[in-house]
Amino acid sequence: WAKAEGRGRWAVYDPERGARDIARSTLAAGLPAALERGEFVLHYQPIVALLDSSMVAVEALVRWQHPELGLLGPDGFIGLAEETGLIVALGRWVLEQACRDAYGWLTGFPEARLVVSVNLAARQADDPAIVATVAGALAASGLPADLLQLELTESAVMGTAGEPLRSLNRLADLGVRLAIDDFGTGYSNLAYLRKLPIHSLKLAGPFVEGIRADGPDQPAAHRDERIVDALVRLAHAVELWVTAEAVETAVQAERLRALRCDTGQGRFFGPPVPAHDITARLRGDR
Ligand code: C2E
Ligand code: MG
Ligand code: MG
Ligand code: MG
Repeated sequence: WAKAEGRGRWAVYDPERGARDIARSTLAAGLPAALERGEFVLHYQPIVALLDSSMVAVEALVRWQHPELGLLGPDGFIGLAEETGLIVALGRWVLEQACRDAYGWLTGFPEARLVVSVNLAARQADDPAIVATVAGALAASGLPADLLQLELTESAVMGTAGEPLRSLNRLADLGVRLAIDDFGTGYSNLAYLRKLPIHSLKLAGPFVEGIRADGPDQPAAHRDERIVDALVRLAHAVELWVTAEAVETAVQAERLRALRCDTGQGRFFGPPVPAHDITARLRGDR
C-alpha cells in the first residue's frame, strides 16, 4: 500500500505510467555520465555459416553496467539515447570499441577473418559526420574496412526525408558492408535493394519463429517458411547475403539451411557474450 501510494503521488492520473516516466528521465539524465565513466560494455553474438556452423561474424550489442540497476539491455536505454541525442556519442564509442576488439581477433586468429557487425541508429546514420566517424574508427583500430559491417533498419536507410541516405554510398565506398536489420518488419521496399549498396539482409525474428518442429503442416508455419523461401530467393537474385535472426532451435537451423539461407544468429548458435568468450570460441574453432 505504502508503495502504491508513494508511486501515486508522482502521477495522479496513472501511477504506473508516472513511475515509468520518472525512471525514464532518471535513466536519460544518467546517460552522459555513464559514457564518461565507461559504464557501457559490448557483448558479441556469433553469426555462423549455416553450411558448416563456422563463426563468420559477430554482432556487437551494447549493454549498460548500471551501478545500481545491474546490467541493462539496449531496449531500456537506446531509445532514450536517441531522444536525447547522446546516441551519436554512444554510437561512436560502440564503433570504436567494436573495431578495436575485431582488430584483436584479426591479429590473434587471422585465418578466421571475423567480421564485426555494428548497429547504427537512424539518427547516427543521418548524422553528416557518420562517414568520418566510421573512417576514423577503422583508422584508429587498424581494422580493414571489409571486416566491418553496419546494420541499419529499413527506416534508418530511408532517412528523415523519406529518401535513401546519401551517406550510404560513401560508407560503401570506404569498403564496409551494409546490412538491413530486422528485414520484413518495415516497409520492405524492394526497390532499394537494387539501388542501394547493401550487402546483406537480416531476416527478422518473427519469420524464423514461424518455423517450428510441428512443421509445414501448421498453416502459419507453412506461410512463414514460404516467405523465408521467397525472400532468400529474392535476395540471392540481387546478390545479397541473408542472415536469419533469432534462430532458437536445431529444427529452425536445419530448415533455414535447406532454404539456402547463408548465415544464422540466435540462441541456438550462442547468446551474446563478453569479448573474451568470443576469443575462447575462436581458439576452440582453430
Ligand atoms: P537487433 O540488432 O535486432 O539485435 C538482435 C537482438 O536479438 C539482440 O537483442 C539479441 O540479444 C536478441 N537475440 C539473440 N538471440 C536471440 C534469439 O535466439 N531469439 C530472440 N528472440 N532474440 C535473440 P538486444 O541485445 O536486447 O538488442 C536489442 C536491440 O537494441 C538490437 O536489435 C538493436 O536494434 C539495438 N542495439 C543493440 N546494440 C546497439 C548499439 O550499439 N547501437 C544501436 N543503435 N542499437 C543497438
Ligand atoms: Mg542488429
Ligand atoms: Mg535485428
Ligand atoms: Mg531489433
